[in-house]
Amino acid sequence: SKGAALVTAVAQRLASRKRQVDETLAPFKLSQEQLQLVKATMRAGLEAGLKNKGPSAVKMLPSYVYHTPDGTEHGKYLALDLGGTNFRAMLVKFKKGLQNNTRLYHKIYTVPLEIMQGTGEELFDHLAQYVSDFLDYMGMKKAHLPAGFTFSFPCEQTAIDTGILVSWTKGFKATDCEGHDVVNLLREAIKRRNYDLDIVAVVNDTVGTMMSCAYEDPQCEVGLIAGTGSNACYMEELKNIEKIRQKKQKTEGDEETPETSRMCINTEWGGLGDDGSLDDIITPFDAEVDHNSVNPGKQRFEKLTSGMYLGEIVREVLLDLTRGGLLFRGRVTETLKTPGIFQTKYLSQIESDRLALLQVRSILQHLGLDSTCDDSIIVKEVCGAVSRRAAELCGAGMAAVVDKIRENRGLDHLNVTVGVDGALYKLHPHFSGILQETTRVLAPQCNVTFLPSEEGSGKGAALITAVASRCSAQKER
Ligand code: BGC
Ligand code: MG
Repeated sequence: SKGAALVTAVAQRLASRKRQVDETLAPFKLSQEQLQLVKATMRAGLEAGLKNKGPSAVKMLPSYVYHTPDGTEHGKYLALDLGGTNFRAMLVKFKKGLQNNTRLYHKIYTVPLEIMQGTGEELFDHLAQYVSDFLDYMGMKKAHLPAGFTFSFPCEQTAIDTGILVSWTKGFKATDCEGHDVVNLLREAIKRRNYDLDIVAVVNDTVGTMMSCAYEDPQCEVGLIAGTGSNACYMEELKNIEKIRQKKQKTEGDEETPETSRMCINTEWGGLGDDGSLDDIITPFDAEVDHNSVNPGKQRFEKLTSGMYLGEIVREVLLDLTRGGLLFRGRVTETLKTPGIFQTKYLSQIESDRLALLQVRSILQHLGLDSTCDDSIIVKEVCGAVSRRAAELCGAGMAAVVDKIRENRGLDHLNVTVGVDGALYKLHPHFSGILQETTRVLAPQCNVTFLPSEEGSGKGAALITAVASRCSAQKER
């Protein structure tokens, strides 16, 4: 009959639509073999970065942090944190041996986009102004507290308090900063505002996160950020760090004790693939996102795994499906062509299992996208494919890191804790679970516990500051 024929036609159309969507999403589905390969690629990247043979995709930057906290840290410190779009100024107080009695006061300042992308002098003038405002607010301008500066970008360090910015990431592009010591840039800006600040440490957010978690859990020897950006740090054997080892040999009489036999390395794993090593898994959508970014060709692993880019990948896929007539009635709207509409928080909402499809549609509506019920199913599928791959890739990276630690120590089995921060880890409904599962499967000889940090990078910077200022006080004596 006519009716039956119509039903069959509709069913066929739906099935073919589903097939086409599946085909589009297929390159995002990584097999176990592919993930094993990513793990091996990451491992090779870690090894290459430790060698002293010029620039490498995975930078492996020494942090000059030699050990995790021992509980004797005490006193009051300032922590300044420039990460994504926010700058945070914090006052952190530690009581000796009372891990749970840390007090923290903070204020958040939003760095305007035009400042992130203006001149370096303007950017650091702004930071100096925020710090000044915070000190006034706390009534502490005259207190001269030691300060730690969490600066969440790749810095080449030669000491705990110097950090030369290698390159901006995450959409920053202020001029005249790359190649300069960011501690100096901040000190000079502070001088221009006529007040004093004793900056004793510059710290990557991964390192700060590891330290703050290690304060609670001594097994914490890895730090992970899965947020706007993606990165990890871990405790490496000094003897494996060529650049440090060569410098160390010149300072005679420096006896190696077990306590100084390691250093935390900021891997900057986001750069994996910048030499083409991930080309096999990079999709045309990823290539487009990279192409449209402020740093094309750079941070390829980060662009597959971090919050700043996942929404853009989703948008590229939706654009493609719409052009193919598979979505939004084939209408490519201005909204869909607008970069940045899919922020991580929307991905997290869309993928939430508690959400009915009607609510997915209302989120899309809110973003300015008119959808049918079928559209909302497809959008959810696209988000899921992109975020699952991100979590799996992070897991593969993490498996490489923990296995390296295990092999460094000649162990058959390693128990280790990873301190984690970042909105993708903390707020996305599935990311953390998939990350943990992938790590477990790819590093079966390691028992990895993920510990979300609280106020991580700030508290960690303050802990590092505590140790650094204790050391410099000893030197002065
Ligand atoms: C930076 C890292 C940072 C990470 C997480 C990346 O873009 O290169 O230094 O740790 O973002 O914030
Ligand atoms: Mg941060």
